[in-house]
Amino acid sequence: MAEAAIILGGGLIGLTQALALAAQGVATHVVERFDPEAMATRGFDGRTSAISSSSMAMLEAIGLGPHLTGTGCAIETIKVLDHLRPGGLDFQSERPGDALGTMYENHLLRRTLFDSAKASDRITLHLGQDVVARRFDGGTAQVELADGSVLAAPLLIAAEGRGSETREQLGITPARWQYDHSAMVSAVYHEKPHDNVAYEIFYSTGPFALLPMLDSDDGRHRSAIVWSVPRDQAPGYMKLSDRGFAAELDKASGGALGTISMAAPRSSYPLGFHHSARVTDQRIVLIGDAGHGIHPIAGQGLNLGFRDVAALTEVLVDGMRLGMDPGDAQLLARYERWRGLDTLMVAMATDGLNRLFGIPGKPASAVRRFGMGLVARAKPLQGFFMDEARGTSGAMPKLLQGIPV
Ligand SMILES: Cc1cc2nc3c(=O)[nH]c(=O)nc-3n(C[C@H](O)[C@H](O)[C@H](O)COP(=O)(O)OP(=O)(O)OC[C@H]3O[C@@H](n4cnc5c(N)ncnc54)[C@H](O)[C@@H]3O)c2cc1C
Repeated sequence: MAEAAIILGGGLIGLTQALALAAQGVATHVVERFDPEAMATRGFDGRTSAISSSSMAMLEAIGLGPHLTGTGCAIETIKVLDHLRPGGLDFQSERPGDALGTMYENHLLRRTLFDSAKASDRITLHLGQDVVARRFDGGTAQVELADGSVLAAPLLIAAEGRGSETREQLGITPARWQYDHSAMVSAVYHEKPHDNVAYEIFYSTGPFALLPMLDSDDGRHRSAIVWSVPRDQAPGYMKLSDRGFAAELDKASGGALGTISMAAPRSSYPLGFHHSARVTDQRIVLIGDAGHGIHPIAGQGLNLGFRDVAALTEVLVDGMRLGMDPGDAQLLARYERWRGLDTLMVAMATDGLNRLFGIPGKPASAVRRFGMGLVARAKPLQGFFMDEARGTSGAMPKLLQGIPV
């Protein structure tokens, strides 16, 4: 079977794209420069991601459901607080079991995706390989790998993450800025059960999120943390002993879950924003963080990438059923139009939220709490924010509704 596309990048988005196309009978090459065995360890990626219910519907529709069952922790309530002051907002799922999202450990997601890709006869993996040249001669996209082999297909899908070299080679300059913040990420044990509640506490120094995880094998309660602090303060926090860092977390969480201790090593990421209005070129499309990277304040980056995958799969499969070439400019234009508004809206909303809550002082806090009070009383507004968390706003590709294309 001839490959319809070369996917550059075997991260969470690249592998999901390959599996989504494989589920529709479409074969691809996937090129990844690192060894995915190493990538699927906690040491490589200790993060935990909130997967929205629509992203989950897609993962199930492409056959990953049985591998993920029992490995994620449902978020049933999201509590939003301004500096631990009263007057916060609660978003609650209407029925038990109707989760707003599910927390998965990234290394487990990577393992599931990699094992499924290895088992698929429609995915040819090229691992530990760097790209030395990309050529687009009108008829095909060609990629030369470091070992001298040359891959050719009608379409190149760049899922290369924030620093996408394909994007640079095309001369696409995204709108970008650095936040003066770093996110510190880890997992903690805590005294009290989390009752499937996610906490998002906004400090003027940066947001602090406590996100529910499954209890450990020995029955200890666990949550993930994403704590955003001014960039120059992060090294000081990272140097603290586990006990000293846990004491800072106790303060930041206001004792919501009782005494905290560390359950995993800490890592820290500088935070930046980038957004490309143009995500296509001749026989090329950018997906996931290659096209857009946002502040992790609302845990939406990966979900946006999953929405790219669902839309691109539908556009390509629809076109190929009509006998069209998967690199056809009309198909790529349809994809770009479909995704443009959603990625921009989410990017601007998360950026605005971050700035709004970053304004110090009592008057700003009063305005924020007034705004949260309004949302708490207005059902339609609550519905809007909950649809965003679930990923069910806007024109939904079929896969996000759990329907095969
Ligand atoms: C602190 C933090 C917390 C986050 N929490 C959440 C959350 O809770 N929920 C959520 O939805 N999102 C979250 N995100 C965002 C999410 O992690 C990213 O959006 C997502 O990982 C992007 O995946 P990707 O596959 O597009 O890119 P990447 O993960 O960057 O993967 C790109 C892959 O491509 C490979 N590659 C690159 N160039 C080449 C090349 N030329 N040849 C071969 N291989 C190449 C790389 O080795 C890499 O494996 C968070 C982000 C941060 C920083």
